[in-house]
Amino acid sequence: MSDEEIKSFKDLITEVQEKGICGKCGGCVSFCSAEELNALAIAEDGSPRFIDEERCLKCGICYLICPQIKALNNELKEQLGWKAPIGSYRKLTSARTTDREVRNACTDGGVVTSLLIYALNKNLIQGAIVSKKIGPFLRQPMLVTQPGELIDAAGSHFDKTLHLEEIGGKYSTYSPVIREIESIGTDFLKSVALVGTPCQIYSLRKMQLLNVIPADIITLTIGLFCMENFSFDENARIKLEKKLKIELKNVKKLNIKDDVIVTLEKGEIVHLPFEAVDEIARPACFACPDFANDFADISVGGLGSPDGYTTTVVRSSIGEKIYNGARQKKYIEELSYRNKEDLSIHKTEIMAKIVSFSRRKKERAKRRKKGTVNA
Ligand SMILES: Cc1cc2nc3c(=O)[nH]c(=O)nc-3n(C[C@H](O)[C@H](O)[C@H](O)COP(=O)(O)OP(=O)(O)OC[C@H]3O[C@@H](n4cnc5c(N)ncnc54)[C@H](O)[C@@H]3O)c2cc1C
Ligand code: SF4
Ligand code: SF4
Repeated sequence: MSDEEIKSFKDLITEVQEKGICGKCGGCVSFCSAEELNALAIAEDGSPRFIDEERCLKCGICYLICPQIKALNNELKEQLGWKAPIGSYRKLTSARTTDREVRNACTDGGVVTSLLIYALNKNLIQGAIVSKKIGPFLRQPMLVTQPGELIDAAGSHFDKTLHLEEIGGKYSTYSPVIREIESIGTDFLKSVALVGTPCQIYSLRKMQLLNVIPADIITLTIGLFCMENFSFDENARIKLEKKLKIELKNVKKLNIKDDVIVTLEKGEIVHLPFEAVDEIARPACFACPDFANDFADISVGGLGSPDGYTTTVVRSSIGEKIYNGARQKKYIEELSYRNKEDLSIHKTEIMAKIVSFSRRKKERAKRRKKGTVNA
């Protein structure tokens, strides 16, 4: 086989970037085998680019770990025992934290933060890659090792000490956690958790399949359900505010369940259908088929659960160990039901909603591929 036949960054340019579906996750640059040779860099707008094409080693890693490349799909599905329609799972439930501080900070039921606190306290992990708010509509990934830092990173409330103007007219709910994996290599940690969207867990699983260091140190993945993520600039903000009659500076909390839920400063709650905010969704999201984070150890979302609870899908043996341990030690509790029939109806409803959202997202990705959905 000649060098020319091996897919490389050059192919990501034609198959991903030129098609307008690059998610600017930075994985291809962070895990480039020619990193020391400075073959690739991240441009100011977050896009990856060649510094010098001649320095590319054509190893194929960047190509295969890109979330928009499906080449390892079958291998991954086989390895993780994927089953239709939402991937394999051992438990499907609504749960919430028992900790008041977590409850006050969290997005839905605080399950993510409480599972991570339990795992840290029991030394099952030594750190976690989470995403901390650094401004309104802006998050940054970081490796944390203390329960207090996990509470700081929880939730989807906006930090009012920072003003919209201070972030330079750039707004993004997307947090490039894949790049942060690099940081664990230097910290001598043996076991780290990662919280991420489906595209991020998908990239990580491909890195683990290919034995890309230090992806093996990620021993627990908590995957968020994800319909779409938002990225926009000042012009889009002004247009959106006019259309929705909402000023972003008055937004206290943003949550996504069946639709986009905006809580305003004065406590008013506004529900927006996804279509109303499609214009600020990242173009990459329209090509993304995974809603339920099919390859995570534990997947979570608000969809299907009452307010204050997290819909929790426990998938793997490590996920089960952490979930059961946290429940036994009363870090989390499950929604209680009057009887078995109510329990069964509730679980059926959750399942039906997850499947329906998963289908909707897969259909959208198919239409994007055929060119019938705008990027
Ligand atoms: C961009 C995005 C889209 C989502 N879309 C849906 C959806 O369509 N339907 C649905 O039911 N649920 C969706 N969710 C999941 C939901 O909003 C909650 O995160 C989930 O229910 C967990 O709630 P919790 O209270 O248990 O988590 P918490 O205890 O509040 O912890 C949340 C964790 O998520 C991390 N986090 C926050 N933002 C990001 C980010 N941008 N990237 C990576 N990690 C992050 C935090 O650092 C924290 O560790 C989405 C979440 C995000 C971030
Ligand atoms: S989606 Fe990520 S891995 Fe793929 S080309 Fe864009 S930055 Fe690179
Ligand atoms: S919709 Fe897909 S590509 Fe977009 S953030 Fe969510 S998982 Fe990633």
